[in-house]
Amino acid sequence: MLNDHFTIDDPLLQRILARTARPTESSVRKVLRRAKAMNGLSVEEVGILVNTDSPRLQRSILSTAARVKRDIYGERLVFFAPLYVSDYCVNDCEYCNFHSRNRQMRRRRLPLAEVADQVKFLIGQGHKRILLECGEHPRRNTVDYVSAVIRKIYSVRTPKGNIRRVNVNIAATTVKNYRRLKTANIGTYQLFQETYHRPTYERLHHGPKADYDRQLTAHCRALSAGLDDVGIGVLFGLYDWRYEVLALVAHARHLDTIHKVGPHTISVPRFCPAPSVSFRPEYPVSDRNFLKLIAVLRLAVPYTGMIISTRESPQIRKQAFRIGISQSSAGSVTTTGGYGKRVSQPQFSIHDTRSLHDIIGEVIKDKLVPSFCTACYRSGRTGERFMSLSKPGEIKKLCRPNALLTFAEYLHDFAADGVFGRGMKVIEEYLGRIEKAGVRTETKRRLDRIAAGERDLFF
Ligand code: SAM
Ligand code: SF4
Repeated sequence: MLNDHFTIDDPLLQRILARTARPTESSVRKVLRRAKAMNGLSVEEVGILVNTDSPRLQRSILSTAARVKRDIYGERLVFFAPLYVSDYCVNDCEYCNFHSRNRQMRRRRLPLAEVADQVKFLIGQGHKRILLECGEHPRRNTVDYVSAVIRKIYSVRTPKGNIRRVNVNIAATTVKNYRRLKTANIGTYQLFQETYHRPTYERLHHGPKADYDRQLTAHCRALSAGLDDVGIGVLFGLYDWRYEVLALVAHARHLDTIHKVGPHTISVPRFCPAPSVSFRPEYPVSDRNFLKLIAVLRLAVPYTGMIISTRESPQIRKQAFRIGISQSSAGSVTTTGGYGKRVSQPQFSIHDTRSLHDIIGEVIKDKLVPSFCTACYRSGRTGERFMSLSKPGEIKKLCRPNALLTFAEYLHDFAADGVFGRGMKVIEEYLGRIEKAGVRTETKRRLDRIAAGERDLFF
């Protein structure tokens, strides 16, 4: 019988890493040939790729990943912004400035009116998607509070639009609480394992989050509570990145086998320094290995969205967009209520401090299409239905027109002259590449309607 209770088979992962330690060129090439079929890779095959060290083969891994990314996702890159609503936290994670040992910090939980102000600020920047974040606090950050925040975010309307998707990154909880979040219309529920290596996990966490199994099995609980989409992730730097990549793939395969939906997203945060944090990564991940792990994940779980944040520098992000990343935060602030204000005490310091406008100006130079699309969620294409389109690479046919429509909205509502003109050229180019004549004509028609002032048109 299939077992819903996911565990990490540590001896197995260690054995795989040991036996794939020095892969031959032909074994690497064989895995890359399999990866091009875009059916994903086994944990063993992932072992071969993470252990590949030759610069020439690494280039092949990156270029194969770039090809798979292009074939599945096309040229779109979805943007969102994190919104920190409360930094109260009962946990004492070694790496995070919100840890309970930080007694200097003046903690805050935003009242709903202030949530609305922050949301107006983000809408004014051009955002349509928010990732809601808060610490774990059974009394302050209750499910009722989080549900009220989600509802408040959706309720804010401005002449420049509204937020159409609220994803949530909050502590692991019970099936009952996940059900309540569902009624508040939660988007993707993201939760990072931080490290899949149990002894390291238990050493670096204190408080309720120190329960390794509570964290590891949370996505299964969320899915059985009826949430459609869940996201997984690792905080890179805590343990050997190669082990973490194998574990992420094992986790993704488990969710897919048992719940028939793999993770909707995989996030790849790397540790960043933070004000009260003396912890330093014992397993720092170099830029070279960071790009490799993104590429390997793209090949191993091709149908899953991959998220990068502003923890990374503009240079690394530019390369990561090409080889696997499909979603990115932009213009982020990691302090509670920090948008539009000078507030200290971020959760950690970020490396890409550019505004959404500046980032968009850059990515279109690389012929990527910034997307604010939320069409799938709002058309019921979530969970298993989404996977049935994304696995065979069909989703791209919808992503392209929807990305063009939402980017056009952005250009009309927010772009300065230079970006407007360049952005419109990019739209023109990809419009011409929509394969089906009917869809192309209809997209063109809708672009004209957007130019005339209509909004929120999608397929
Ligand atoms: N408190 C919840 C939790 O821990 O699951 C929710 C979100 S927490 C605000 C979001 C994520 O930030 C954590 O899961 C962790 O991976 C990441 N994080 C914490 N401290 C960090 C640091 N110093 N550098 C980079 N990422 C960090
Ligand atoms: Fe709290 Fe999350 Fe920070 Fe840990 S990572 S201290 S749980 S906010």
